[in-house]
Amino acid sequence: MSLIVQKFGGTSVATPEKITEAARKAIRAQQQGHQVVMVVSAMGKNTDMLVDLANAVCSGPSAREMDMLLSTGEQVSVALVAMAIHELGGKATSLTGGQIGIKTDNSHTKARIQSISTDRMQTLLDDGHIVIAAGFQGADDEGNITTLGRGGSDTTAVALAAVLQADECQIYTDVDGVFTTDPRMVAQARKMDRVSHNEMLELASLGAGVMHSRSIEFGKKFNVPIHVRNSGSFTDEPGTVIGPDSESADRPVSGCALTKSEARISLIGVPDQPGTMHQVFGVIGAAHVAVDMIVQDVGADGLADIAFTVMEGDLAATLKAVKKVASDFGNVEVQCEEGLSKVSVVGLGMATQTGVADRMFRALADDGVNIKAITTSQIKISVLVDKADGQKALRAVHREFELEKPPAARSDFSEDHGRLEQSSPADIVARLQRMEDLTIDNVTLDQSQGRITVTDIPDEPGIAAQIFEAVAAENLLVDMIVQGAGTDGLADLSFTVPRDVVTKAVQVVEDATRDLNCGPIESEPAIAILSVFGIGIRSHVGVGVRMFAALAEAKVNVEMINTSEMRVNVVVDSAQGDAGLQALKAAFADVKS
Ligand code: ADP
Ligand code: ASP
Ligand code: MG
Repeated sequence: MSLIVQKFGGTSVATPEKITEAARKAIRAQQQGHQVVMVVSAMGKNTDMLVDLANAVCSGPSAREMDMLLSTGEQVSVALVAMAIHELGGKATSLTGGQIGIKTDNSHTKARIQSISTDRMQTLLDDGHIVIAAGFQGADDEGNITTLGRGGSDTTAVALAAVLQADECQIYTDVDGVFTTDPRMVAQARKMDRVSHNEMLELASLGAGVMHSRSIEFGKKFNVPIHVRNSGSFTDEPGTVIGPDSESADRPVSGCALTKSEARISLIGVPDQPGTMHQVFGVIGAAHVAVDMIVQDVGADGLADIAFTVMEGDLAATLKAVKKVASDFGNVEVQCEEGLSKVSVVGLGMATQTGVADRMFRALADDGVNIKAITTSQIKISVLVDKADGQKALRAVHREFELEKPPAARSDFSEDHGRLEQSSPADIVARLQRMEDLTIDNVTLDQSQGRITVTDIPDEPGIAAQIFEAVAAENLLVDMIVQGAGTDGLADLSFTVPRDVVTKAVQVVEDATRDLNCGPIESEPAIAILSVFGIGIRSHVGVGVRMFAALAEAKVNVEMINTSEMRVNVVVDSAQGDAGLQALKAAFADVKS
């Protein structure tokens, strides 16, 4: 018999009428012959209200008590949904995370799922009940209630779908599906019919609040078909399928996203030697803070500058950690800037096409948006801008890539999701143990690239656009781009290209920057890129730390970094490539899938 999981977000159960409507949807699905598990969030803004209450009685509520409190929001709504189903004549039983047997680690307020038992749910389902599971919560080994982090009901839903080997996980929310960007920010945003796991992972972690990014990690790891739909639609609109395929076969950009409150921390004058990165990011990782947009400016006199961004809410904890390392190093200055936004474009197509970065930078420059930092990965480009420019920047890139227009139809979609039942029983058991653990698929060395650095770029709009327009005009395929801190108003911009075009790229950049008041152009004909690929790369804050530790141990100096949901890349000296590869392989041997 087929089984579906239906998740209802806060707005979809905000009133008694909406609760009854959700109950009807589940009963209808059951009448169509499915077994049904509902996953329900707290009603409306109840979780926010509980957070406010906690802050009203206590300045720093303990994480354990916070979980005890926040989990009650979902307990209210599952009971009400069960009652609504009873009222409509159906059979239903509500269960808390602990009652289901959702085991998590004990990191309160951001717990990770370790295992889920299916027995109780399966017995109820076989007995004709609709099972109503409280989203966003579990219990640790000692029976303490834990929560998975804000927005975590999506993760509960996809995780339940994975263990129950559901045919589909439907996410009911207050919009028609996943849009090219937040429809509340850009009116022209278009609902996508499909979006690939990898794109959705990036979009979710770069600000697209429609899905909890860890739910997409589950979707990818366990091949769960995810279908995002509008709970308010009576016509059963098709929504968006999150699966292996992208909507378009050839578009460079599929969607864009904005994070509203970022802070940037810069460490000026750290030692440019193996081990520095490890020291810095080790302490931040220990504070459980996720960092992004890590930029290391090419050093002078044995010193380098490191800058990175964190969510504004994590700033205090990060500064505390960083100041300790800064004093260990000696004469390091710590600078920090708040009120920033990150604008990103994401698309599988950009991995193989030239001329994406220049279009993005040009669109921003034409709208007068100054770029304060740039980082890229194979399928995304992120820029840091002033918060006041955030929405304007998002609209500019949405317009530039014509995301409001539907892409050409495509017919070569994957037939199925290669679901779990096609794996061997032993494989399923192995994968479901420690469900949310990091999985590393591969560690690689790329010896094909060289690097160009434009030093001392003035902090004004349009320069990155001019440089990358010139590079794109020559069809040079750029891999990594990193633009740094600009601590004295002058930033360095580095990018990598295939080794055989380094000389050409230097010429092109020299011509393009002649009148722009930049510093000298530097180049390295051969650099090595070491990459670690997997699932959970960024949400497991320790991956970068483990890489830096292994490289430091092997005396390999990290010169450039970029991170994405699927991989971390570091640039090292070409001669150290093999040593770095061996060190990383050894460091990740225990989590290699
Ligand atoms: P729920 O309570 O159902 O979990 P959320 O508020 O968490 O709902 O997520 C839905 C919201 O996500 C939408 O109302 C929309 O404003 C926002 N959003 C942000 N980015 C996107 C996007 N790319 N596509 C659709 N919605 C988005
Ligand atoms: N109620 C929780 C929150 O508001 C979980 C969720 O809605 O996904 O964050
Ligand atoms: Mg949500």
